[in-house]
Amino acid sequence: MSTYKELDAKYYMPCFGRSMEIVKGEGCNVWDDNGKKYLDLVAGIAVCSTGHCHPQVVDAICRQAHELIHCSNLYYIPGQAELAEKLSKASGMGKVFFGNSGAEAIDAALKLAKVRSGRKNFVSFNHDFHGRTIGSLAVTHKPQIREPFEPLGIHCDFPDYGDLEGLKAAVNKDTAAVVFEPIQGETGIIIPPEDFLPGIRDICDDARALMICDEVQSGMGRTGKWFAFQHSKVQPDIISIAKGIASGVPMGAIIAREGLEFTKGEHGSTFAGGPIACAAGNVTFGIIEQLLPGIAAKGELFRKGLAAFNPRVRGLMVGFTLGEAAPKLAELCMEKGVLINVAGDGNIRIVPPLTISADEINYAVGVINEAAGQI
Ligand SMILES: *Cc1c(COP(=O)(O)O)cnc(C)c1O
Repeated sequence: MSTYKELDAKYYMPCFGRSMEIVKGEGCNVWDDNGKKYLDLVAGIAVCSTGHCHPQVVDAICRQAHELIHCSNLYYIPGQAELAEKLSKASGMGKVFFGNSGAEAIDAALKLAKVRSGRKNFVSFNHDFHGRTIGSLAVTHKPQIREPFEPLGIHCDFPDYGDLEGLKAAVNKDTAAVVFEPIQGETGIIIPPEDFLPGIRDICDDARALMICDEVQSGMGRTGKWFAFQHSKVQPDIISIAKGIASGVPMGAIIAREGLEFTKGEHGSTFAGGPIACAAGNVTFGIIEQLLPGIAAKGELFRKGLAAFNPRVRGLMVGFTLGEAAPKLAELCMEKGVLINVAGDGNIRIVPPLTISADEINYAVGVINEAAGQI
């Protein structure tokens, strides 16, 4: 019989660089197929915010699976309406539309911006990441992943992240929306200057372009507020959410300001906002609500513990720049039982479950410092 590694090599497209198999998760810990335990500061890439297999999440999924797994959007889904209310109130925005991933949420946001503005073009930023579908890829900067697929049918300019003069020059009467990450995640936790979001708001208002804030990674409590834009005083026109929304059950969403919405027939999806995802989303929301007040302090523990690296910290989005040594640090930490992630440009990204304890943080930073001393 073939091993799973041989099957993977033979039958699965080699898009990912994989290192090991994780067979079990509980809280902030995961175990590999040799029974080795790891403290997980990756959390399925900022997805498993309630920790692995939180009992309330498991229970909600199982209960819903016994009742009804799928019914399509031809019929009412009570959990969908309930989760939409929670998200709308938490964001201070209007109506919600669910999808199944971050990229799908961005695609929905681009469609909504196009159809309501009557304009075609978009502006994003250098090093912004928004997803891998044709639409979301068109507003994703990284040339190596975007250019092989051009033309993508959407014109997008990419001024420098944080550069409001560059943005002003790029936005014009054909700009449907400016799409941006309030904190850049995939690139390694880049926090923009404080005037950035207010500046984007002003430039969008002057040009009558919409402001799409991509909260796929930074949203759902990750930064200590429900959404990262809430650290500023501005309100975007559309936000996208996904990663942390349903504890690992595939789900994404957009929320638009009051009055900005799709009309009947303009958008749709078979699976989106289904009963299982909404059951997981509703309990996830309640768990995060409890955790929210403690998240900033947890981030400060990382800031203190990783002071030697001059880290960038906003709640439990933590990053620092190491350059060429970044993969080696991740490898050494893995050997020592702590999972961290190498993001773009030699940056380390730490996005643990929001349930992580002070003891776990102290242990993790100890291991990271020790590993760094061995490079
Ligand atoms: C991960 C991510 C996406 C894409 O989400 P998928 O679920 O992988 O499609 C989009 N935007 C941001 C900011 C992300 O971090």
